[in-house]
Amino acid sequence: MRIGNIEARPGSHAFGYLEVAKGRSGISPDIPVHVFAGAQPGPTLVVQGAIHGAEIIGTMAILNFIKKLDPNTLRGNVVAVPVVNRIGFELQDRGSKLDGKDISRLFPGNAKGSVSDQIAYVYFNEVIKKANALIDYHAGAQTAYERYVLFTIEKDPKNPTELEKRRKKLVLAFGLDSAGFFPPDAFGANKAKEAIEDAGVCAFTLEFGGGTGWVANGDQNVRDAERGIWNVMKAMKMIDGAFEFDQPECTIYNANVILWKPSVDGVFIRERRFGEFVKKGENYARVQDPYTGKVLGHLVNTADGTVIPSGQEWPTMGYTSIGILGQIAEKVDRSKVDLTVTFD
Ligand SMILES: [Zn+2]
Repeated sequence: MRIGNIEARPGSHAFGYLEVAKGRSGISPDIPVHVFAGAQPGPTLVVQGAIHGAEIIGTMAILNFIKKLDPNTLRGNVVAVPVVNRIGFELQDRGSKLDGKDISRLFPGNAKGSVSDQIAYVYFNEVIKKANALIDYHAGAQTAYERYVLFTIEKDPKNPTELEKRRKKLVLAFGLDSAGFFPPDAFGANKAKEAIEDAGVCAFTLEFGGGTGWVANGDQNVRDAERGIWNVMKAMKMIDGAFEFDQPECTIYNANVILWKPSVDGVFIRERRFGEFVKKGENYARVQDPYTGKVLGHLVNTADGTVIPSGQEWPTMGYTSIGILGQIAEKVDRSKVDLTVTFD
């Protein structure tokens, strides 16, 4: 298994930095990559953390995971990337202060573009395209998010493709209690997501708590983020063993209304709770002046719906603050479903 100049022979682990771009800032954007080549053949799983540089729960889970992964008992390959966005990570930023871009929105990338375009281009071609499945970790940075799996809705839900069927099984196998599918144009990420899907990769995204208190409060999130990797490997038949879930049931939400952040900057305070039913025109959140306390405006529901797992950053200055409304689409009892997937 070879990623750039990093090569692992069957039954071994190799580590190196994938050369992705040359910047003039003095910060190397080259990406740390662990390659585990299994002793037996099988599919390839990529796990990536901190493509948003300040979101580090996945990073910690991946570092714990690679300490335990034994390539001698592995079928297939695992490519583990603790931090994709090194520039963002080192400058404590979601995106990149060098060019203001978000790598996760840029796939398949552009070799002739700015630093983030170049990173996306090399990473897409050297890492993502080699995957059968991709686990992409996100989390809160300054404040915690709730926990859920995000995946793209099937293009024709009554007639899903093989890739879409496998992806849904892996979403369930990961093991969280909540999952949500989003309209295709949610988050403006459709082109990047489509590029990954067109490359034949079953990709899904996690939101996983986070916040600056993660050392004290995030043990469970780090542990369950790691547990999800082992579960997905079991579903992909890369290792043996029984799935481990908190509970058999997984609720799948149709997250069909995204409320973006208000047009004013301040402290963002969500007024609605997960599971609450809200009506169109009612307030979802308020924004207050952080210095005077004056209420500057409200984020108003644009449709009826149930508040489903979502996140927020408390300062809205330049940050994403969102609410998500939708309906419960399905409750799946995982103990009654075959979650295993095979790749040709
Ligand atoms: Zn993120």
